[in-house]
Amino acid sequence: MRTNKQLLGDFGENLIIKKFNCPKCKRIKSLKKLPQNFKCADIICDFCGYLAQVKTKTVSDIEKFPSKVLGAAWGPQKERMDVGIYFPLFVVLKNGRNHSVFYLSSDLQTEEMFIKRKPLSKNAKRAGWQGFYFDGELMKKFISRLL
Ligand SMILES: [Zn+2]
Repeated sequence: MRTNKQLLGDFGENLIIKKFNCPKCKRIKSLKKLPQNFKCADIICDFCGYLAQVKTKTVSDIEKFPSKVLGAAWGPQKERMDVGIYFPLFVVLKNGRNHSVFYLSSDLQTEEMFIKRKPLSKNAKRAGWQGFYFDGELMKKFISRLL
């Protein structure tokens, strides 16, 4: 069984691969989902190898970019930033049947957009795990709306 959080992620990824051509090579219907546990990205172009992340968030207003968007694990993100690696990011906002889509290319991303969270408490299922969120206030100055 997929959790609600996973189903929300599925929705966003399915929307992107259905609605958009590859932003890099412009090929139609070439974006595919990567396996669930693939670490750095969610979708790939099976023609040119373009990779991107997709974040999906439930919001009350799809017109307004949220001040925070949950990311993933902080450790690998920090290591990538230390060597200057960023992945293009799609953000899907969902409210019931309505949704909007935003896009931030990798060259517009900066370290300041990635805010580390406190490590999970020792009572948590993944005690000590540390994640990050995206600074939506900063990001919305650079992000483009696609849909
Ligand atoms: Zn491509």
